[in-house]
Amino acid sequence: MSKPKPPSGMTAKEYRHMTTQTLGLSAVRSDIAAIFAVAVIGLGIVFAAGHAQASALHDAAHDVRHATGFPCH
Ligand SMILES: [Zn+2]
Repeated sequence: MSKPKPPSGMTAKEYRHMTTQTLGLSAVRSDIAAIFAVAVIGLGIVFAAGHAQASALHDAAHDVRHATGFPCH
């Protein structure tokens, strides 16, 4: 990745400081968003697998198999 040039009227040091701060903050926000998304997906799978009836899960998986054209029976 090439090094971006600072906009006119801004020294390289000021620009580096500004972009470092911005990148650091957005990286933290991105990490929190990723952790939250993974937690929601993981808990959703655990609750779906734990509370759904086995026959309903089997039927859903079976329907997906047929819908995607996977050889079944
Ligand atoms: Zn089938």
